[in-house]
Amino acid sequence: MGDATDLVLERVDALLHAHPPATTEPAAFWAAQFDAGLAWVQFPEGRGGLGLDRELQGVVNQHLAQAGAPRPEPVNLIGVSMAGPTLFEHGTPEQQDRYLRPAFTCAETWCQLFSEPGAGSDLASLATKAVPDGDAWVVTGQKVWTTMAHRADVALLLARSEADQPKHAGLTYFIVDMHAPGVEVRPLRQITGDAEYNEVFLDEVRVPDTQRIGPRGAGWRVAMSTLMNERTGLSAAIGAQRGAGLIRPALAAWAQVPEAERRAVDRDRLARLVIEADILRFTMERSAQAEKRGVPGPAGSMIKLGFGMVGQGVAEFCLDIGGAAAALVDHYDMLQPDRFTHTGDEELMDGNVAKGFLVAQSLTIAGGTTNINKNILADRVLRLPPEPRP
Ligand SMILES: Cc1cc2nc3c(=O)[nH]c(=O)nc-3n(C[C@H](O)[C@H](O)[C@H](O)COP(=O)(O)OP(=O)(O)OC[C@H]3O[C@@H](n4cnc5c(N)ncnc54)[C@H](O)[C@@H]3O)c2cc1C
Repeated sequence: MGDATDLVLERVDALLHAHPPATTEPAAFWAAQFDAGLAWVQFPEGRGGLGLDRELQGVVNQHLAQAGAPRPEPVNLIGVSMAGPTLFEHGTPEQQDRYLRPAFTCAETWCQLFSEPGAGSDLASLATKAVPDGDAWVVTGQKVWTTMAHRADVALLLARSEADQPKHAGLTYFIVDMHAPGVEVRPLRQITGDAEYNEVFLDEVRVPDTQRIGPRGAGWRVAMSTLMNERTGLSAAIGAQRGAGLIRPALAAWAQVPEAERRAVDRDRLARLVIEADILRFTMERSAQAEKRGVPGPAGSMIKLGFGMVGQGVAEFCLDIGGAAAALVDHYDMLQPDRFTHTGDEELMDGNVAKGFLVAQSLTIAGGTTNINKNILADRVLRLPPEPRP
């Protein structure tokens, strides 16, 4: 690892020297980062990586952040955190050459067409149909909660291609052009007032077979790889050191309270949150080690569960110690944002506490609900017997 770390650090220095973040346009910086193999270091050379251990991406990101470099995730979270790794694992070389660079530079932004009105937690029961027609597929159905679809150029789509197969076996995975005829995006307003996500209607959309990722009927396996990669996004949000990431707004809010007004009960709450954030970070590190040893585990569910609980605890803490003023919102216009609000921590840090609190409510739903993660832990970690049927 030592030599590999030296190599990436040399590359990071060279990148920062040739493209100082303060004077370089973000898109130009991301293009240079991709070409230097520092986009996804685990990918092969020429495709945004250096063929190194995935963990080294954390080292790269940390050094770039310290130098004030822009990150593409707020603009294109799904492209960078999910589409890139899914294409790396399951895409054809042609698909990788076509899509990886524009995803990282944000020249093309992505969304994820998985959830449907009748298929969220039980994703495998989805009903959007993909019917083969010559060298293409005809896709018809309705998706929902599609984050950033109003800005997206391309989408990851999971659809039912084999009506006669059991539900998990009947799915195929595609890349869909969001500007193709038959794709309609309608905004859905959230509790925050914004419409960051949407409904997407697909009416006989033609998708060339070259846009299929993985074999016909193997969509579930490809989708699992997409969902596993959501964790990478979480690790950035959780933060690599004590005091960074998810817990940061709580510490910042506490620092604003004058010494004489600090109540023991709030100090106790804060201490608990800091400990929980630490446990979350250690669990994340342990799971990365286990993954390296090839030991698969349900750590992703544990991390997602803790992430929602700590994130909401932090937002609640900020709202409570901010007093009545923190509950005010300055407007309730429906915005369709250009960037993800993500965890709400930016809003909390900016003093937009009520909005940050509302955004945080989604942390126990998006990317797998708390109930579902508890089910997985009950099943796979605690080995509890299934609930008796009445
Ligand atoms: C902010 C946000 C952004 C999102 N972005 C996207 C996106 O970009 N693309 C996309 O495809 N989807 C997206 N989603 C959808 C998300 O994946 C789903 O909301 C999630 O999987 C839950 O599905 P559901 O909303 O249909 O709830 P349901 O599955 O209907 O669940 C309703 C309630 O029942 C509980 N429940 C369901 N089944 C069980 C069970 N077996 N045991 C115990 N309890 C159960 C759930 O925990 C939940 O409390 C987003 C959601 C949010 C909130």
